[in-house]
Amino acid sequence: MTERAYLDWNATAPLRPDARAAILAALDHAGNPSSVHAEGRTARQLIEQARRQVAALVGADPDTIVFTSGATEANAMALSPYWSAKPGQPAITRLLVSAVEHPSVLGGGRFGAGVTHTIAVDSQGVVVRDALRALLAGGPAMVSVMLANNETGVIQPICEIAEIVHETGGLLHVDAVQAPGRIPFNFNDLNADLMTLSGHKIGGPKGTGALIRRSGLHLSDPLIGGGGQERGLRGGTENVAGIAGFGAAAAHITSHIGAEKAHALRLRKRIEAGLRAATPEVIIFGENADRLPNTTSFSHSGLRAETAVIAFDLARVAVSSGAACSSGKVQPSSVLAAMGVDSALARGAIRVSTGHATGDADIDRFLSAWTKLSESLLKGRDVIAA
Ligand code: PMP
Repeated sequence: MTERAYLDWNATAPLRPDARAAILAALDHAGNPSSVHAEGRTARQLIEQARRQVAALVGADPDTIVFTSGATEANAMALSPYWSAKPGQPAITRLLVSAVEHPSVLGGGRFGAGVTHTIAVDSQGVVVRDALRALLAGGPAMVSVMLANNETGVIQPICEIAEIVHETGGLLHVDAVQAPGRIPFNFNDLNADLMTLSGHKIGGPKGTGALIRRSGLHLSDPLIGGGGQERGLRGGTENVAGIAGFGAAAAHITSHIGAEKAHALRLRKRIEAGLRAATPEVIIFGENADRLPNTTSFSHSGLRAETAVIAFDLARVAVSSGAACSSGKVQPSSVLAAMGVDSALARGAIRVSTGHATGDADIDRFLSAWTKLSESLLKGRDVIAA
């Protein structure tokens, strides 16, 4: 196989060897985790071990973790007016979401469009705290702000946001999908009420995720009913092999976070210095904010992301565009639009994201492809012909 540089880890991370081994081992267990016999108890043990591993990743209590089919489902479960600190407490009827959230949050979950409001971000993509305060003046709300953005890597000041939300009696949900393994963080220190994780972004299998809730938080009307699994919060026979793989990936990250963060930071410095050396006019989005060490989102005047991604692919480099493609029409990224980025520049946005297995040879390949591509760009030629 021809060697390629995979630089799209924020879309999905390759399966970690520990996760693969855990999945294969779990596939050979026949039991249903709800069965009382020995086979069932073995399957149950695999799930409970994974629950402890995922809990340890973020310093949460294992009892507060619900496994789901992914972060999209965990977000749908979180964004619900049926959460309360005490049974019988009045439902929270409004939802505030930051303008840079993932589409699975922007949709508003079970709140519905009429009661979902957007919190503005500044030019770096960071939530404007005064805008949040102004929206909360209308009464308590559930607030959803991500820990780190999937397109730009920009990190939100979650502790400060939690304080503002809690002062008014609201609940804070944090989509932390992009953060594990990239920055150390702790569920309790962030002071969130609900937190979403995804298995496949951390080297676990696709189709796995988790919702973590603050102890004592009660959900009166679960999204998926059924056989009472996951303490009645999420019906359906558990995806035992997937959950075991998610747990193994989490355990690996917990013990390697320091090294993985330092590795990512070193590569990002190389990427950004190389981009600047080839094209001094390059724009790096969110550059002045706190960012994930593994993510660079950039653009250049005249660049068209849809053709640039193809040109990179032909050069055996996998990156992604910051533009969303729906019904055949390429739309500028809503994240960059919320940051006030000019739409022509946003149309050229390219995201490069690395992971633990990314090496210097991958960065060399990316930078040499960019140098070639930018020569065509600067001469006004089609980049695919580069
Ligand atoms: N939230 C964020 C920030 C994401 O990046 C993603 C994946 N692109 C999701 C949620 C959805 O995750 P999943 O694929 O596990 O449903």
